[in-house]
Amino acid sequence: MIITGKEHNWEIVCGLEIHCQIISEAKIFSGASTRFGADANENVSFVDAGMPGMLPVLNGYCVHQAVKTGLGLRAKINNYSEFSRKNYFYADMPTGYQITQFLYPIVGEGVVTVDLDDGSSKDIRIERMHIEQDAGKSIHDIDPNKTFIDLNRAGVGLMEIVTKPDFRSPEEAGAFLRKLRSILRYLGTCDGNMDEGSMRCDINVSVRPEGSDELRTRCEMKNVNSVKFVMQAIENEARRHVEVYENGGSIEQETRRFDPATGLTKALRKKEFAHDYRYFPEPDLPPLVLSDEYIRKVADELPELPDAKKARFVDKLGLTKYDASVICENKEVADFFEKAAAGHDAKKVANWLMGDFFAMLKRKNINIEESPVTAENLGALVELIEKNVISGKIAKDVFEIMSETGDSPAKIVEEKGLKQVTDAGAIEAIVDRVIAENQDKVGAYKGGKTGLMGWFVGQVIKESKGKANPQVVNSLLAEKLN
Ligand code: MN
Repeated sequence: MIITGKEHNWEIVCGLEIHCQIISEAKIFSGASTRFGADANENVSFVDAGMPGMLPVLNGYCVHQAVKTGLGLRAKINNYSEFSRKNYFYADMPTGYQITQFLYPIVGEGVVTVDLDDGSSKDIRIERMHIEQDAGKSIHDIDPNKTFIDLNRAGVGLMEIVTKPDFRSPEEAGAFLRKLRSILRYLGTCDGNMDEGSMRCDINVSVRPEGSDELRTRCEMKNVNSVKFVMQAIENEARRHVEVYENGGSIEQETRRFDPATGLTKALRKKEFAHDYRYFPEPDLPPLVLSDEYIRKVADELPELPDAKKARFVDKLGLTKYDASVICENKEVADFFEKAAAGHDAKKVANWLMGDFFAMLKRKNINIEESPVTAENLGALVELIEKNVISGKIAKDVFEIMSETGDSPAKIVEEKGLKQVTDAGAIEAIVDRVIAENQDKVGAYKGGKTGLMGWFVGQVIKESKGKANPQVVNSLLAEKLN
């Protein structure tokens, strides 16, 4: 995206930092549960509450999840990483510091390929990913004069993914977040629900004259909680920078708040720098050392990820790139599609899935797991059309009934007698062919051997592989022979 300026045009330079809650039964440094929706302070161990003398113990499963994620981001997994203390005071962080990783993160450089609306792809470089603990929550809206603290979230494991400043438009950032969420969900390492706060996005934005490679002062917006808001925040913040520069002003490095109501950003505080946090190596945890063998083992567990699945759907099943990327964004959709397409025309199944089927989910406001139309039944419907049992037009009616009753298409076609009506045209063609190929018998029939009618009916039904309705065949033959 290029912003038009007075003397020259401007280009957006944007990088993202995404905090992703690790899917794990227990917190990263304690045995307390991570269950969402528990009563306030129900899931708090002495470690999470920062009680004196309590020692953190690293949860091996969180490490496993982080390594899996790093591999899914096609990133280097570091054999050696370290935990550090990031010191700052906040009421919902009782220790007064966060255990995080600073100089030596668990995951190094990687890359995520995003698919853009114009059909092109772009590689977004990952700078690093580290693991750390989440803070608790301050609740300001229970009492007008008091703030309440809920430590259930304190100590939940986070993966902080930092990108290089590779985004040149809000659309690229939006496509990246959707792709990242898709990868994390395929991996099962983060549920990616931005509205529940399990994926939170910090945005760094600056602008520069189009074509230049300078990096100007950036501003940061923290904890933006939807893809749409991230895109809005980038565009509006970039436009603000351009306006400031064009009026001869300068941008100060600061943290700004994105206001979802107006779409605008407001200055919050001057940006903190690393030295403000007095980072030092965490004395209560040893360095984290991972063997190559451990990393290989985790790699062996990786599922097929969206890019690989998409390539397979294009190469092996003949889908278009666009269809494949829509279907592969969500693992449940991709699995449903594969089940439905097994043994059928995959392209036709994809059309049904992305057309009537998605429209049905949207209309009913349900997700694919709740669909009354099963994958097998969608495949069976396409098969009925492929085999000319029903026309595409009748299939739409059958689909509507399937989405209400959950019945199989065969049952519906049978019960509603839909076969007969639609087959009339196909039957007529067979009737014509049988008549044309058996002129001797036609002559005999016309000469008085009316008993041959039964033979003609039998021939047509045989030719239709048993699907032609005898009554329709009878009346068509009577019409043509008499
Ligand atoms: Mn962080």
